[in-house]
Amino acid sequence: MRIACYPGSFDPITNGHVDIALRALKMFDKVYIIVSSNSEKSGYWFSVDQRIEMCKKTFQDYKNIEVIKGEGLTAYQAQKLNCQAIIRGLRMVSDYEYEVQFAAINSYLAKDVDMVFLMARKEFSFVSSTRVKEIYYYHGEISHLVPKPVIEQLKISNIKQAD
Ligand code: ADP
Repeated sequence: MRIACYPGSFDPITNGHVDIALRALKMFDKVYIIVSSNSEKSGYWFSVDQRIEMCKKTFQDYKNIEVIKGEGLTAYQAQKLNCQAIIRGLRMVSDYEYEVQFAAINSYLAKDVDMVFLMARKEFSFVSSTRVKEIYYYHGEISHLVPKPVIEQLKISNIKQAD
């Protein structure tokens, strides 16, 4: 069985993330979405549990996608889950530097787990969780950028928008 994991912050999950996960599912029998808090990032809008919940609702019709919480180092978690690969998405050159470091660390920690990078589709190459939050904050339309559960969670959380 071919198993992969797709780790990220997913704060919140976007249609760009969904596209990467579904493309990964064409290559692997099972894909774990690992929701963690990146130690280099701050200012999360959603708790890990809320992010997990949004991902779970988004992929509820896909029985081969399982959403779980990040625990410890991704490379070791991937090994424990018997993953052959860690999936990441690449949009711009700016993603590359971070991803090269992440890949190098993972191959040092877990030689048996490979990194698989999928290029963002053109229509999602400008979509990031950060941009989505910015657009939402300034009352822009985000319904084409994120799955429905994110819109619902934004309403429930009553997140502040610009006056
Ligand atoms: P992290 O904090 O680990 O970077 P993110 O949720 O921001 O978590 O991103 C997770 C992964 O998804 C990263 O590899 C990122 O480059 C990729 N990604 C994010 N948005 C997109 C998108 N629109 N298209 C393709 N890949 C994306």
